[in-house]
Amino acid sequence: MRRKIDLTLLVAVLLAGVSALAGAAGLPLVDAHIHYSHDAWQRTPPTEAVRVLRSAGLKYAFVSSSSDEGTQKLYKIAPELIVPVLRPYRKRGEISSWMYDESVVAMLSERLARNYYAGIGEFHAFGEDVDLPVLQQVIALARKYRIFLHAHADADAIKRIFASNPDALVIWAHSGFESPAGIAPMLQQYPNLWSDLAFRSEHSFNGVVDADWQALFERFPRRFMLGTDTYTPERWYFVVEHADWSRTWLSTLPAALAENIAFRNAEALLARVGK
Ligand SMILES: [Zn+2]
Repeated sequence: MRRKIDLTLLVAVLLAGVSALAGAAGLPLVDAHIHYSHDAWQRTPPTEAVRVLRSAGLKYAFVSSSSDEGTQKLYKIAPELIVPVLRPYRKRGEISSWMYDESVVAMLSERLARNYYAGIGEFHAFGEDVDLPVLQQVIALARKYRIFLHAHADADAIKRIFASNPDALVIWAHSGFESPAGIAPMLQQYPNLWSDLAFRSEHSFNGVVDADWQALFERFPRRFMLGTDTYTPERWYFVVEHADWSRTWLSTLPAALAENIAFRNAEALLARVGK
């Protein structure tokens, strides 16, 4: 009798494991941090890039590029998959100079008037950069179109963005490379701040979520989203692997929380765009 119960239990555990794996394999993802810049176009042409995003099982990919032409190439052939985000960079090497370049504002204004974008970014800004006229105009443009800002920024810069527009919608790229203790007070203070996990791996060891990070995800279940960050052309080869790795650690979280981080939080942000 004892042996029979153990066998029944074993079968139940195995079935639960199989269904958890099947669920994880099918979990749709939104990758909120994809770039398709000029040097990626040659190596991974648009049709191949879209094939990569689809084989990663992505529901949406938030794509920005230097220049914007790359994003437009992908959006044209897969509008149901690509969420266009407008980058203030026309080529590589503008990360630390763009905030002094007034011509960026004219370029952004012209493109925003012509095309659909869900956000402006990813851009780099630290501390007082946000108070410069170019950044202030970028914040005003996002306010005008009610689109999000995707900011690779320190906590000080994020605070300055919300000081400029308390209603701004902001994705904090890489969660600011902050620790859970540094991220929590920011999410607490700013309800319109989302945090992407792009280029972060310390939240998962051997496929299991670190305890501090799990506590953070549980405290802010609606604020985190995934991202690969294809900041160099070679990173495109990593998109599918990154999606599989994400599904693995997500499968160790409660199902509802995993779904939030996988795609629901990004969808909730998209639902706010334009409103
Ligand atoms: Zn990036």
